[in-house]
Amino acid sequence: MSFENLGLSDKVLAAVKSSGYTEPTPIQEQAIPHIMQRRDVLGIAQTGTGKTASFTLPMLSLLERGRARARMPRTLILEPTRELAAQVEENLIRYGQNHKLTVALLIGGVSFDEQLRKLDRGADILIATPGRLLDHYERGKILMTGVDILVIDEADRMLDMGFIPDIERICKMVPFTRQTLFFSATMPPAIEKLSHQFLQNPVHVSVSAPASTSDTITQRAVASDMADYEKRSVLRGLIDEAEGLKNTIIFCNRKRDVKIVDKSLQNHGYSCGALHGDMDQRSRMTMLADFKENKITHLVASDVAARGLDIPDVSHIFNFDVPGTAEDYVHRIGRTGRAGRKGNAFMIVTPTEKKAFDAIEELIGQSIEWQGDPVEWDSKAGRRRGGSKSGSKRDEQNDLLRKTKNALPNR
Ligand code: AMP
Repeated sequence: MSFENLGLSDKVLAAVKSSGYTEPTPIQEQAIPHIMQRRDVLGIAQTGTGKTASFTLPMLSLLERGRARARMPRTLILEPTRELAAQVEENLIRYGQNHKLTVALLIGGVSFDEQLRKLDRGADILIATPGRLLDHYERGKILMTGVDILVIDEADRMLDMGFIPDIERICKMVPFTRQTLFFSATMPPAIEKLSHQFLQNPVHVSVSAPASTSDTITQRAVASDMADYEKRSVLRGLIDEAEGLKNTIIFCNRKRDVKIVDKSLQNHGYSCGALHGDMDQRSRMTMLADFKENKITHLVASDVAARGLDIPDVSHIFNFDVPGTAEDYVHRIGRTGRAGRKGNAFMIVTPTEKKAFDAIEELIGQSIEWQGDPVEWDSKAGRRRGGSKSGSKRDEQNDLLRKTKNALPNR
């Protein structure tokens, strides 16, 4: 299949060519012809599959007819995070290089004024995070009655982040006759239910079984004691011993840990930076750019901040914790082993994380091999046991060591 057979406009085809794409990815092949025929689409696709182009390319083709009016966007793309929204904007600028279409980005953390100026000029495409969009709407700065195409991207993440009530409100603000494109990496029952609410007679497209992990990724679990400094030492050991390490993303469940792990690695002389939700937009974008340009080797990140980031060719993923939801594991390790390349994903597992660990193995339908001794599961939270060296003596030593370390100034 070639791009020429998908029904896209000549201008878009020229932009695709200059982007260096030779053939459509499976999600593009499946979704684009239906979108061009103005059908609603329910797409199950992970990031890294070419999902963004699967909706932006036909959108640009369809927008060639007609013109934007002040404060009345013609299309609306909803994204869960600012990074994703900015990334979609980048894509649209690239694919829309032969168009004179206006793209406006409404995200938190940047000034209202500049966003308003763009809206006033008339936006063909509005990319927004739900909260900021509603802010503008409530201030009467934007009219949603001209929206012809609505894209709800990363729906499962929207659900996790509590955005669904906002999305429901936004869906009521845009015309009923709109075309809706709804994408999610996974399809838990709650998302399935929502898709019925937002879509009309949609075409279903799916590029991989929900929650599957790529065969090109080597997955390993590594046991650790529960103490945080012990986990950090396990992490350093994994980094030091990793074969073919080029760059890594280190995921932590909590923002607090993102900051601590980043600082600790820096203190140990590693080239790294952090990405978490407490950072302002400018610092997040700078950090991401530094990582993409290989100015830093390790990016310590929270799930929300790293969701869907388009970072090609990450050699290693390290899970500092077992993620709380199994779907997050799939998303996290989906940052490596992309486009047929080999990837590596390690997960540090402590004795109390059995439930979350089992849920992951169940979701991905395979067992994760242990590197070294498996963890010794402990249902009683608070007791420290792990690896092969468990025992109360070691627990006491750990406690003592921690107290001593805490008393020392940071290196
Ligand atoms: P996405 O799933 O939208 O995050 O896209 C992942 C990456 O694939 C991005 O770097 C895109 O630029 C790239 N990409 C999208 N479509 C194609 C294609 N047809 N051929 C090659 N690369 C593509």
